Amino acid sequence: LVSRELQAHDSIVSIGGVKVGGGKFTVIAGPCSVEGQDQLFGVAGMIKEQGVPLLRGGAFKPRTSPYSFQGLGLEGLKLLKAAREQYQLPVVSEIIDPSDADLMYDYIDCYQIGARNMQNFRLLEAVGKQDKAVLLKRGMSATLEELLLAAEYIINAGNPNVILCERGIRTFETATRNTLDLNAVAYLKEKSHLPVFVDPSHGTGVKSLINPLSRAAVAVGADGIIVEAHLNPKEALSDGHQALTADDFSRLMADIKPFVAAA
Ligand code: PEP
Ligand code: MN
Repeated sequence: LVSRELQAHDSIVSIGGVKVGGGKFTVIAGPCSVEGQDQLFGVAGMIKEQGVPLLRGGAFKPRTSPYSFQGLGLEGLKLLKAAREQYQLPVVSEIIDPSDADLMYDYIDCYQIGARNMQNFRLLEAVGKQDKAVLLKRGMSATLEELLLAAEYIINAGNPNVILCERGIRTFETATRNTLDLNAVAYLKEKSHLPVFVDPSHGTGVKSLINPLSRAAVAVGADGIIVEAHLNPKEALSDGHQALTADDFSRLMADIKPFVAAA
């Protein structure tokens, strides 16, 4: 179902009315985690001013350590919905439990499946039964075949609105948090009709590398990027080291503009 052999033209997926894919480059931005109203609304207002059409933010956070901030849960979803209304920004947020799919439905516009859950097949089926978009992130040790088969689970369950996302894989390299696999983007665009996004924030884990890798994402044919931003990264409860401030963010938008125009 994901194959270009079956469907030659690019799939276009709507996230709350914002269409992604099909030759248009789209930026999704927002904090790693929703931390509170001031934090979320501050970032939402900032990205809106920068012309970004979609807001991200985690309410359920699957953290490596059980002692790290686990997200605000339902309270976070309520804040996302409020930010969506206030700033007219459709929302992307991660789901970690199949039983949350119905609960989340009214609060978000796109379910994110995180890298750690790419092969959580019950979770894939749960979002496959919904009619909203799904941003499916590649597992940190998953092959592209496995990623495509994970997408197949979602579509086979009834939901064709899948966006693939390369977010970096585990390699021997330790200078960066992950190794952003741009081969994956070119390969996936060739083999599949689904939109392909790049996450240069988790892909590098290094703030200064987000701009060059975002330009590379445009050049290699990605349909968009998903980027983490925070107005006060030092106080962020997760991933502050890789969060772009308002100034960083306006530089990013200016940096990618000529590449988007040329693509
Ligand atoms: C995230 O987007 O905040 C996240 C946890 O991403 P990943 O699942 O790619 O690690
Ligand atoms: Mn994060």
